[in-house]
Amino acid sequence: MDKLYVIGNPIKHSKSPIIHNYWIKKYCINAEYEKLKVNEIELKNIIKNLKNGTIKGLNVTIPFKQKIVTYLDEIDESAKSSLAVNTVFVKKKKIIGANTDGKGFFNSLYKDINYRIQPSSSVLLVGAGGAAYGIFSELLKKKISSIEITNRTASRARDLVSHFHKLEARGKIRIGNTEVSLRPWGFNPSSKIDLIINASSLGMKKDDKCDIHFQNLTKKAFIYDIIYNPRETIIMKEAIRHGISCSNGIYMLVRQAAESFQKWYDIKVNNDDINEVVKLLGY
Ligand code: NAP
Repeated sequence: MDKLYVIGNPIKHSKSPIIHNYWIKKYCINAEYEKLKVNEIELKNIIKNLKNGTIKGLNVTIPFKQKIVTYLDEIDESAKSSLAVNTVFVKKKKIIGANTDGKGFFNSLYKDINYRIQPSSSVLLVGAGGAAYGIFSELLKKKISSIEITNRTASRARDLVSHFHKLEARGKIRIGNTEVSLRPWGFNPSSKIDLIINASSLGMKKDDKCDIHFQNLTKKAFIYDIIYNPRETIIMKEAIRHGISCSNGIYMLVRQAAESFQKWYDIKVNNDDINEVVKLLGY
């Protein structure tokens, strides 16, 4: 029987076993996916078990998304650009790290939310952590008109942009076709913004206040909060108050899991598989 794990610390909250065990059963795979609370010292041994075939694959969560890299043989382009690994798989006896957040985000945006990014789109990305790196990297591939980025700690937003391009003195730069600008935390996004992506943890805590303002947005704007717990986030509440369409991150969660599942089993789950799991999770 294949053994798969999501490793992290804490790990109690993880929904990954529900998602993967559903598909494992549906596709009649002889496998079991479990949560594993680990310490850093155990990472080496876990990777050894991947090498000897005792473990088939891993998902990796906080605080090991960066730390795991030193134990792997390779990281793919998605992990390089996001500076974090959330999926580990074995290919031709090599232990490879990938990050499925960016792809999961865009698959959910296109397939579940039916939102189409246009070359003329202007996007505001909120956050500069691991998830933001993955989303930013995928956003650049869309060759859209402009990306604005804001983060509570401004220097981390600057670091994110510098990771993809050398930042010029005035803080306004072009990466390929896309104009990228850094914005101060708490600024008022202008009416030209089509899509706001919250890739920060703002809204995870009960007493968080919405630091993003929507007064200037038009009704054509869409707000995608990648947080899925709470189901209606503080940012979504604010969006609804302004009559702006929005979504939480549950479909991204399931779509990024689907990308991991494909890396382990070469099975592309279909829309029914996605929707059944979303329902199973109570959304
Ligand atoms: P991370 O690397 O720890 O980054 C956290 C980010 O959130 C940083 O930009 C941080 O800003 C910001 N932040 C934290 N608390 C904040 C607050 N109270 N107000 C404003 N900004 C705050 O985490 P991550 O992996 O990028 O994940 C970010 C969020 O996305 C988490 O809530 C996570 O659950 C969610 N997520 C969802 C999915 C999905 O599939 N739906 C996938 C990945 C992540 P500073 O730089 O100022 O600290």
